[in-house]
Amino acid sequence: MKKLIIASKNKGKIKEFKQLFSKYGVEVISLFDFEKEPPDVEETGTTFYENARLKAEQIAEIVNMPVIADDSGLQIDALDGRPGVYSARYAGEPTDDIRNYEKVLNEMSHVPNEDRTARFICVLALAIPGEETLYKEGVCEGIITTEPKGMNGFGYDPIFIPNGFTKTMAQLEDNEKNSISHRYHALEQLESWLMKHQNKGE
Ligand code: IMP
Repeated sequence: MKKLIIASKNKGKIKEFKQLFSKYGVEVISLFDFEKEPPDVEETGTTFYENARLKAEQIAEIVNMPVIADDSGLQIDALDGRPGVYSARYAGEPTDDIRNYEKVLNEMSHVPNEDRTARFICVLALAIPGEETLYKEGVCEGIITTEPKGMNGFGYDPIFIPNGFTKTMAQLEDNEKNSISHRYHALEQLESWLMKHQNKGE
């Protein structure tokens, strides 16, 4: 496999996928790179798996090429797992990262430090025309801060400190985030599959 479509219009995710896949010699093409952009896929699922499958399979059917989709989000223990699959639009439409994390910080204003545990989850679905869709999951554990810090990354990065760090995800360099993130861990699981297809020169 030399080319892979990423079924996402999230520029933060596309950038991370391009960096992560470059080490496998796989060129990642985003939906923005198409002359006629494929339509948006509605995320009607109630789990990360369902949404990842919907995005990957629907786009693969249109473009007839291997397509990878990720569905990801933040699960916060003190909020009973919210925002979860609704992470992108937690504060309503249109998606707004700052309104989203401010809503989380407001809801958690009474929560003591020891109960601020959370994790980013990423489910990858790889849809290849004529084959069974593959799924891989990656997790990054951490805690929620009381105020936003840092300018890198996207989404909830400014309010999430990964375990083993004292900085938020938005204060880490790109390569630091890419070596511990939920997306990296999910992709790591795909590694053996990628090596096999790379060797076959597909
Ligand atoms: P999706 O496009 O439905 O998968 O939306 C995932 C949402 O989860 C994003 O819009 C972010 O709000 C959040 N999210 C996922 N991955 C990350 C990350 O690496 N950092 C910060 N927020 C993330």
